Amino acid sequence: MTGKVYLVGAGPGDPELLTIKAHRLITTADVVLYDRLVGADIIALIPTTAEKMYVGKAKSMHSLPQNEINGLLAQKAKEGKMVVRLKGGDPFIFGRGGEELEELVQESVPFEVVPGITAAAGCAAYAGIPLTHRDYAQSVRFLTGHLKDGTTDLPWDELVHPAQTLVIYMGLTGLEEISQSLIRFGMKPSMPVAVVEKGTTLEQRVFTSTISDILAVIKQNDVKSPALLIIGDVVTLQNKLEWHGKY
Ligand code: SAH
Repeated sequence: MTGKVYLVGAGPGDPELLTIKAHRLITTADVVLYDRLVGADIIALIPTTAEKMYVGKAKSMHSLPQNEINGLLAQKAKEGKMVVRLKGGDPFIFGRGGEELEELVQESVPFEVVPGITAAAGCAAYAGIPLTHRDYAQSVRFLTGHLKDGTTDLPWDELVHPAQTLVIYMGLTGLEEISQSLIRFGMKPSMPVAVVEKGTTLEQRVFTSTISDILAVIKQNDVKSPALLIIGDVVTLQNKLEWHGKY
């Protein structure tokens, strides 16, 4: 009998941000395929009897090509296994969840998608930055700073808009181009920006600056991936709302 593939969001880092459903599936899986962004605390929940497979992917250094991951999911399910495909954050937000499901549909493999807390929600909460606020932002946009062909080509004119928060995933490499383009399209150079590195984990670091100076701040502090950029006036609330305890 064919098994089933669960495409499960593991959240941004803190294992307590797993959903109860994700936790149940991880702890009862036969096979788990997981990404680079899934933290060690969550990997530790996988039963020792389960087959555990690391499938990548660091930027432009895929340890297993996407089509092979897709094929492997289908193959394991056809062997009758209960397969968990574990992804950082939410599988449908910059997670290629859609691409993996297409293959399963083609091969008639049953599947289910379990949403996770996306990095934007996790990092914003743990850094003390509300993504919307009646005084500062009525909308929020999630963007990727990294396109399939390695370029950054965003709809700049739409991004320079009052009362809008921008959250940029995978924005470190393209940051110089991103900040210059936003200013060229009319963003005030003093626009507040936060960068959250390893958000929601014990190693979380948060830096705030402006769109004109953020690149220097990131270089000075040697900020590394995974990091999320939050751009907008809501960032001014960070000082006030940051939680000063320890998670
Ligand atoms: N599906 C994921 C996003 C995958 S894209 C989600 O919903 O969160 C990978 C990018 O997500 C990283 O380059 C980074 O920009 C962001 N990201 C993921 N986890 C993060 C974390 N803990 N802290 C900061 N950024 C994170």
